[in-house]
Amino acid sequence: AAQRLLEPGEVLFRTGDIGHEAYLIESGAVEIYVDRPEGRRVLALLGADDLFGELALIGDQTRTACARAATATRLSVITHDLLHDQLERAAPLLRHLLRVTLARCRSNLRMIGDGENPAPTSIAPATEPGSVGSLALTRLRLERAIAEAIEREELELFYQPIVRLGGGHVVGFEALARWRRSDGTLVPPGEFIWVLEDSKLILEFGRWVIRKAAADLRKLDAHHQPIRVDDEPLFCSVNLSVRQFGDPELLPVLRAALADHALQAGQLRLEITESGLLNNLNAALELIEQCRALGCRVVVDDFGTGYSSLWYLHSLPVDGLKLDRAFLQDSTRSDRGLRIVRAVGRLAADLDMSAIAEGIETPEQAAICHDLGLDYGQGYYFGRAVPLAQAQALLRR
Ligand code: C2E
Ligand code: CA
Ligand code: CA
Ligand code: CA
Repeated sequence: AAQRLLEPGEVLFRTGDIGHEAYLIESGAVEIYVDRPEGRRVLALLGADDLFGELALIGDQTRTACARAATATRLSVITHDLLHDQLERAAPLLRHLLRVTLARCRSNLRMIGDGENPAPTSIAPATEPGSVGSLALTRLRLERAIAEAIEREELELFYQPIVRLGGGHVVGFEALARWRRSDGTLVPPGEFIWVLEDSKLILEFGRWVIRKAAADLRKLDAHHQPIRVDDEPLFCSVNLSVRQFGDPELLPVLRAALADHALQAGQLRLEITESGLLNNLNAALELIEQCRALGCRVVVDDFGTGYSSLWYLHSLPVDGLKLDRAFLQDSTRSDRGLRIVRAVGRLAADLDMSAIAEGIETPEQAAICHDLGLDYGQGYYFGRAVPLAQAQALLRR
């Protein structure tokens, strides 16, 4: 996720160098050229949004031309790791087409360099709105911005209270990620988690979430006074992405986070959703078992929607479920939704699982959920996700 600044005339690479990187021109201009005995031959003058250096990157091959800045130029670097991480997950046919196409380009380029006439090529410019190229560039920039945000610690966790229905007192929090950009604006997770999930960054991010949530939970706990004798210690839920199930560091990080902040294992909970679990069932099963062996609870998020279904409760050793807010919105309008909420409450009780209703926005909804036998609730009615200091204040009330 690096940037490079070049001064006018500065040479970036020469023919014969090994190519470990490709570049995206953010601003300025780059000249691609070959040096011939009869003099310099310019092959292309590239400007903002142009991509270059990609030919050698794919196979770590040598550069077929030289590149230098024509003016002061700012580049985004596309590293070998970044590219290959994405290539690994691309369809085999795409990978193959890419290889063939690049090989052809290279031989064309060599001919240009040798002074032969190349076959004419035309490629849609990456700046054309909606083109594959422009989508790729948007993503690339977003990915770089997020990698920088992680480095600069611009990501934050907000905490949304989870309450015991009936009493209404806070029993725990869900940690929800926010990205505070340098201009102060808050980016909701819906806009950046998918980018992380599409790259290895989600692993580093996921570990950070666990460490941070554990550190914050220690601070929250200091303000917490159990109200009922049978109240369990204050807990914090974190969301796990499916790729994290393949992270060998996940368990060590969990273990260390608990130990470093003197937490009981039951105080950290993991929320899982993704359909991807199905593709990697054995790994998921094993990891869930290991987390539970540590003492961490695992709950199924968004229960009742899409992929999170009865099947999870049947096949995975989970401790609880969170009923998706869609049912709740429906329950205040239709008798059917109401019956579903009640049935899920009973199901959870029968399976010795805890049930949390999420998306409670009105006192009526809170009352309905309580009447229907759900234990816990979460939603704007009880409180939105807020920064740590405000979450602490909630406990002091
Ligand atoms: P989620 O896990 O289902 O989280 C609940 C979302 O519903 C949150 O949105 C929350 O602010 C919102 N919400 C809570 N109460 C209400 C309510 O009463 N009404 C309505 N309309 N919405 C409510 P948010 O914070 O934008 O998070 C969106 C999603 O992003 C989360 O859905 C979760 O899947 C993902 N996410 C957030 N933080 C993380 C994280 O640290 N790691 C991972 N892997 N995913 C995260
Ligand atoms: Ca969640
Ligand atoms: Ca949810
Ligand atoms: Ca969700």
